[in-house]
Amino acid sequence: MTEALRFDAITEATPTRETLAAESQAIHAALDRGDRTAALRDWDAARRRYDTWSALVHLRFAQNTQDEKAKADRDYADALSPEAADLEIALKRRLLADPDQDGLAALVGQHALRLWETDITTFDPAIKPDLEEEAKLSARYTELLAGAKLSIRGQTVNLPGIEPFAEDPDRATRHEAETVRWSFFGRNGEALDDIYDRLVKLRHGMARKLGYDTYTPLGYRRMRRVDYGPDDVARYRQQVADHVVPLVARLLEARRAGQGWDKLRFWDEALIDPAGNPKPVGDHDTLVTAAEDMFAALDARLATFYRMMRQGGFLDLKNRPGKAGGGFCTSFPTVGVPFIFANFNGTHHDIGVFTHEMGHAFQNWESRDQPGVDYLWPTMEAAEIHSMGLEFLTYPAIDCLVGSDAADRFRRMHLIGALAFLPYGVCVDHFQHEVYAYPNATPAERHAMWQRLERMYMPWTDYGDLGYPAKGGRWQAKQHIYNSPFYYIDYTLAQCCALQFWVRARRDGREALDAYVRLCGQGGSMPFQDLVRSAGLVSPFAPGALADVVREAEAVLGA
Ligand SMILES: [Zn+2]
Repeated sequence: MTEALRFDAITEATPTRETLAAESQAIHAALDRGDRTAALRDWDAARRRYDTWSALVHLRFAQNTQDEKAKADRDYADALSPEAADLEIALKRRLLADPDQDGLAALVGQHALRLWETDITTFDPAIKPDLEEEAKLSARYTELLAGAKLSIRGQTVNLPGIEPFAEDPDRATRHEAETVRWSFFGRNGEALDDIYDRLVKLRHGMARKLGYDTYTPLGYRRMRRVDYGPDDVARYRQQVADHVVPLVARLLEARRAGQGWDKLRFWDEALIDPAGNPKPVGDHDTLVTAAEDMFAALDARLATFYRMMRQGGFLDLKNRPGKAGGGFCTSFPTVGVPFIFANFNGTHHDIGVFTHEMGHAFQNWESRDQPGVDYLWPTMEAAEIHSMGLEFLTYPAIDCLVGSDAADRFRRMHLIGALAFLPYGVCVDHFQHEVYAYPNATPAERHAMWQRLERMYMPWTDYGDLGYPAKGGRWQAKQHIYNSPFYYIDYTLAQCCALQFWVRARRDGREALDAYVRLCGQGGSMPFQDLVRSAGLVSPFAPGALADVVREAEAVLGA
């Protein structure tokens, strides 16, 4: 039945304040009657309908940010979201006040209760207008970037469209691409500073209303982190500084020497393979077909799933004007089949984004039968293990996407890219901790904070004549900093786990894939470190977790 499901066929009625309130009242009435089972069942179904509708609205806006109807629908959804949150939190509060917590845990799981206990500390009706304003500011940032029209080599491209030029084997082309990219940010610097300044002050204000000193503890709770805090994260950043920064510095120095450059500039960092970064075997149509062969060679479970996604129209991977940048996976919990969104641009990033988002999608599919909507996705640092893990686990069959003669070079490039990402990733995280610790900093002070941290984690970065990033503006291109505060560390924590899957797959590919599929099936039924342990992985917070994988990478790369 699900096999024949098509994306076009998914619809969900638009909820209103009234319909949401009526649903909520019916659930409260069931609780009044003492029928907790019926209340929980109806509530779960209502949350699935709401999430499916919201996912559809946000997806359609991302597919065409210029479409007035899609934009109006998104604005409507963003305005309704605090209302839905209000009703949902009220139900969580009521259930958590039930004296029979053991009985409740038996119905929904102990971990769900822990998540709800976190959720209820992130919301109060007093912050509803702030949440709506936050969504508006995020949308303004997304639209500003999506509307970029950049001229290069006689073509007009958007921000994702600049990528192929930014990693062109020709140095002058790479330099021009970065010049064009950063001129856009320079021209819009004041608007970008203004949006961020408002977001930071708004978030700090919400935190104060909820009784926190700063936004940071609220930010962690909004990410539903129940088993670690800022001190653990700070120690992890230090592990990156100790073990990864020196390795990346050596790799970059080897590249500089190999190319005979007197200095390695910022625009040289994207050219990982001296002969030119390997490209996909072909365009979008070729790749989505070749992926069938890749998954078939790897694993029957992945192959069947991918065929269903493709046949059902659950992929939108082509770059086109007006489409929001980036890649993501979204899901429709009434249905169970997820959707992946990307902007293919003819570079190796197409392969990286595709395997990444397929990892998210596969997890969501594997865990579709978890008992409640809270368990369909894990917290994001765990979710990124599924996505980043699949990037590594597809190595043995990656020749299908990159061609057999380029497969070794692709794997080497991807591994170097994964390692080089870590210093940048922790820098983005450290920056946000400073930003929210000093919410009254001026935009100029924020640029100075970034510069100082950049020198610490990426001492090699040399912007040459690129004026805007040289003055501390690089962070403004990172949408997570605006739209998903404190999310970014999740990629770096997950990378540590994904690298462990890489090491395991080098010893025994079948064992690693089976462990991966099992982990996907766990969904969000446990907190991060329990999920990690359940898959036989070492928590990134454990001393030495990163040192072990870095040692293996050094041996493989000869660095
Ligand atoms: Zn991801």
